[in-house]
Order: sequence, then C-alpha cells, then structure tokens
Amino acid sequence: MRPETARELVSDAFRRGRMAHAYLLAGSPRGAAGELAVHILQMLACGQDEPPCGACERCRQVAGRAWCDNLWVAPRKKSRAISIEQMRRTEGSRMPPPYLLSWLGKTSFAGGWKAAVLEGADRLNEAAANALLKMLEEPPPWTLLLLLSDAPQALPATILSRCQRLDLDEPPPGLDEPWRSQVLAVLAGPPLSGPVAAMAAAQRLAAVLEAMKKRAGELVRAESHADEAQAEEEADEPVRVGSPAGEEEMEAWIGARYREMRTALLLTMQRWFRDLLALRAGADPAVAHCREHLATLQERARRLTLAQALANVESIEDLARQMERNLPEQALLEYWLDRLADGAA
Ligand SMILES: [Zn+2]
Repeated sequence: MRPETARELVSDAFRRGRMAHAYLLAGSPRGAAGELAVHILQMLACGQDEPPCGACERCRQVAGRAWCDNLWVAPRKKSRAISIEQMRRTEGSRMPPPYLLSWLGKTSFAGGWKAAVLEGADRLNEAAANALLKMLEEPPPWTLLLLLSDAPQALPATILSRCQRLDLDEPPPGLDEPWRSQVLAVLAGPPLSGPVAAMAAAQRLAAVLEAMKKRAGELVRAESHADEAQAEEEADEPVRVGSPAGEEEMEAWIGARYREMRTALLLTMQRWFRDLLALRAGADPAVAHCREHLATLQERARRLTLAQALANVESIEDLARQMERNLPEQALLEYWLDRLADGAA
C-alpha cells in the first residue's frame, strides 16, 4: 500500500483508540518504513490537538530519536543480529541497558505511551524472537512495538501472526550520476542494433557496470570498517578481522549492493523504452521519464511500429531475468542490443 494509506490507517485506529499492540512495517528501514515509524511515534508523543504537528518540542525529539519514551533497537554491528542481550539483562553480558523488554515493562517517563522500534526485525535471533513473543502475547498497556523490515518473510510466523502487517510501496531506486547520463548517452547515441553497434554499446554499458562493482566494494568495505570500530566498543563481541568467513560474507554484501545498483541501471533503460512506447502510442510527452532526450525519443518513436516498441519493453524484462542468473553481463547486453528496434536512423 501507499505510505499515505498506511499512515491514515494507523492514525484512524489511534483516534478510535483501536491501535494494534504491534505493527510490522514492511519496507525499507531507511525509507518508507522508517518514515512511517517516526510519524507514528510522533502521533503518540505530540501533545497538540491534531497529532502529530511535526513541529513541537516533542515531535522534534521523536524525530531526533531523543524522546524519553521511545527506544530504537537495531541489529548489532558485528553479528548483524538482534540478540537476547538487547531484549533483557542476561548473565555475563556486558551490554549496557536499556534492554527492550525491561524498558517496555516500566511506566512511561512522560506519562503517556511507550514505544519501541525494532529496525531490521528479520535479524532477531531465535532467543530474542522467543523473548519478544512472550511480550507480544501479553503486551503491557500503553505500549506499542514497531517492527521494521524489508525482508518480512524472514520473520518467524509466530511473531508475524501477532503483528498487524502494513506492506509499504517504495519508490523504485534511482540511478546515481554520472551513471544515469552515461547510460542515456548510450541509448540516445548511434544505432544500437547490428553486430558491430551492439558490441560497442555493450562495451560502454559494461564499463558502467564495472564502475558500479568497484563503488559497491568501496561502500561496503568503508561501512564494515566503521562497524569493526564500533564492535570493538561492544566488548562482549569478539572481533574477527579478515577471517575466511568474514571475507566470504563481505563478498556477499558487495554482491548484494552491486545488484541494487544494476537494478537501477536496468530500470533506467526500461524507462527509455517505456518512453518510446508511450510516445509511439500517442501519450502526452509530459509523462516521459527521460525528458532531457525528448526530441530524440519523439523522432525515434515515429520510426517504430507499436509491436516493436512493445517488444523492446518486454525484452528488457528478459534481460533482467537473465542477469539474475549470473550469465556473463557484457555478452547478455550485446545479444539484447543486437535484437532491438531502437528507431535510430
Ligand atoms: Zn507535535
């Protein structure tokens, strides 16, 4: 559902005093799910007539994660898990309080609602999930739990069944510069099909993918160094640096980040061919995504049949599927480009 719909749903339940004890906000913790969580927390804390006002001292504290009756819990950096030590005091742990379950069990500081947020709730380990489940079965009054996850299928069914789930639509990822311009320059450039042209265009697109791989590696390694520094502060978690398992994990994270970037590239190409199709079908040019190349798009659309324009859009979906199978990217691109009807003269 659209984030505004979810927001309205929860606000309405709040006004009628019928809120669930726990919501699963299925979406990106850094995106739609995180934003909705802040909105809900502000609604609970804001003292104004039509909460949340978004501007009062309380609303500001909530947004800054500084409000006394909110607790945010995230997976620990090194283990990437939410552990039982974060749920309650445990024997031998040097993890400092507050612990989520003990914290929720105490009365509110400001005299209203207490709310806890679990970011990346799919990272709950088994012991932590079991402890949480007990609380969900008998939630303390005036408490709310928000579980944020972009992989809700990874949560135990027992937890899922005790949360009201809100699946949030996310806007598709955009392609960063200079890559977007580079990709559009290839598409708007000389004809793409034919063996020689396809090979040249595939090389240029493969160079963009290569740059993405490198960038993904840099980003993940930089984040991981920051994590290791924090993990050393979390004294009860031994730090393993450079172990074979660590390297394998690192490669997996880099791969995942790279595939996100590649998806954004494919989406940009798809928008190009959707524009061609829309223009060929007589749509308003104002709906075009790649407006900076509108003249080129309009000229090319005139040279395509409707069937060709539609086949292009479908072919890029095939290309995306084949890339998911880890076939050689440059060869896939070349094969795909060679068969396009791009309308270039
Ligand atoms: Zn307010």
